[in-house]
Amino acid sequence: MHTQSLISLANQIRSRKTSALETCHHFLERIDAIDGTINAYHETYPERATEQAKAIDAALDAGEDPGPLAGVPIAVKDNIVTDFGSTTAGSRILENFNSPYSATAVEKLEAAGAIILGKTNCDEFAMGSSTEHCAWGATSNPWDTSRVPGGSSGGSAAAVTAGLCCASIGSDTGGSIRQPAALCGVVGCKPSYGRVSRWGLIAFGSSLDQIGPFTHTVEDAAAMLQIIAGLDAHDSTSANVAVPDYTAALKEPDQKWRIGVPRQYFSSDNDPTVTAAVEAAIDVYRQAGCEIIEVELPLTAYGISTYYVLAPAEASSNLARYDGIRFGHRAKLEPGEALFELYARSRAEGFGPEVQRRIMLGTYVLSAGYYDAYYKRALQVRRLIKQEYDEAFKKCDALIGPTSPTPAFKKGAKSDPISMYLCDVYTANTNIAGICGISVPAGFTDIDGNKLPIGVQIQCQSYTEPTMFRIAHLLEKSIGTLTRAIP
Ligand code: GLN
Repeated sequence: MHTQSLISLANQIRSRKTSALETCHHFLERIDAIDGTINAYHETYPERATEQAKAIDAALDAGEDPGPLAGVPIAVKDNIVTDFGSTTAGSRILENFNSPYSATAVEKLEAAGAIILGKTNCDEFAMGSSTEHCAWGATSNPWDTSRVPGGSSGGSAAAVTAGLCCASIGSDTGGSIRQPAALCGVVGCKPSYGRVSRWGLIAFGSSLDQIGPFTHTVEDAAAMLQIIAGLDAHDSTSANVAVPDYTAALKEPDQKWRIGVPRQYFSSDNDPTVTAAVEAAIDVYRQAGCEIIEVELPLTAYGISTYYVLAPAEASSNLARYDGIRFGHRAKLEPGEALFELYARSRAEGFGPEVQRRIMLGTYVLSAGYYDAYYKRALQVRRLIKQEYDEAFKKCDALIGPTSPTPAFKKGAKSDPISMYLCDVYTANTNIAGICGISVPAGFTDIDGNKLPIGVQIQCQSYTEPTMFRIAHLLEKSIGTLTRAIP
C-alpha cells in the first residue's frame, strides 16, 4: 500500500478495493514503526486523520464523491500552517504556535478528500539544504540513515520515500523541494512563481517562495499541482492564469521536444555519477527523437551570490514579526530590563544560528550605504538572469541538468555555510527567474556499497508546467520509478 502511486491508491479507495480507514491505519502504523529512525514527522494527527478516513468511507458508502484525492494520506511541511495541531517552521521561536487558519494549499487538499497525517520536519524557517538545522532534530535519508535527506523540506521528501505518506507538500525558495527530492529519489516540483497560493506558507523570501508537491511519480505530481494551483484572493501574488488540465496533458502523445543542455551545468565540481546520470537522461531524449540543443547560461555562476543577497534581505524583513510580542517565544526579563531586551533576548533564544546569520546578512544588504551595492545590484542581476532564461527558452522547450551537484552527503559533512549554500547552484536561479522546475529520479550512485538516488532537473518557462510534466514523464517512462520500500 505504501509503495503505491497516489493515482492508484486514490483509485483503489474510490473503487472500494481498500478503505480509507485501512489505508490511514496502515500509514499511521508505519510511522509508529519507522519514523523513530527517520524523524520525518514533527507531529502527527492520528485521531483527526482516523475520523476523516471514516467520513470518507461513509461518503463513498453513501454514493457521494468525496473528491479526487479521497482518503489519500498526505504530509505537510511544518512551515505551512494548519488550524489544527501546531506549526513551528522547525524553530523554537514558534514552539507550540497554533495557527488560527489553514494555508490555502492545505484547504484545497482537504477539500479534495486528502487526509493530512502530520507535519514534517524542515530546516528552521526553510533555511538550509540538509534538514539538520531543525529545532526538533535532524531527519535521516531513508536510503542511508547516516546521510541527510536534503533540505529544507527534508521531512516531506523522506516521508514519501519511506512510505510514511503517499505524497506531501513542501516549499521551495532556492531548491528546497527539488534538492531533497533528488537526494531521496522522489519527484519534487517547484511550480512557477504565483502558480500556487502562498497564503499560510510562513514567509521566507516572499518573491521566491512557492509551495509544491513531493510524489512517487510525475503523474502524481501533476495530480497534486492540479489541486493546489490557482488564483487566491488571499495572495495578491497568486496568478490570474487559468489552471490547465495537467493530467490530461500527460495523456497527449510524446513530442520531439527541444531539450536545452546548458554547458554551465556540467561543472567539474559535480559528482561524476551525477553528470553521468544527466548524460544518460539526455540520451533518453535523443533516442526519443528530441532535438538536443547546446545552450549558454553564463549567469548560472551568479545564482548563489544573487540568491544570498535577495533571500536574506526578504527574510530579515519577514522574520521581524517574531519579536516575543506579536508572535513567538517570549524571553523572561530580569529586573530592570525593558522592551529592547525583550526583543533581543526573545530572538536570540528563539532563532537558531543559521537564521540569525541570515537576518544579519539581510539587514546588512538592506542598510543605508550598502543597499545600492548589494540589494539593488542583486535585483539588477535578477533581471539579467530572467532575460538569460527567456533567451534560452526561445531556442528550447526545457533545460536539463543535475538537480544537485552531489548525491546525499553524510550528516555533519557540511559545517561551513558556503558549502551548504552551494547545494543549490542548479536550483536557485529557477526561483530567481520565477520559472518552474522539477526533479525526477534518474538512477543511482554507489557509495560505500550503498545505493543513493540521483535527480535530474527539468526547468521550463513560467506557466508551462504541462510541458514540464510531459518532458519529465518521458524520462520517467524510460527510467522507471525508484520507490524505496523500507521494511
Ligand atoms: N537551501 C536554500 C537556503 O538555505 C534554499 C532553501 C529553500 O528553498 N527554502 O536558503
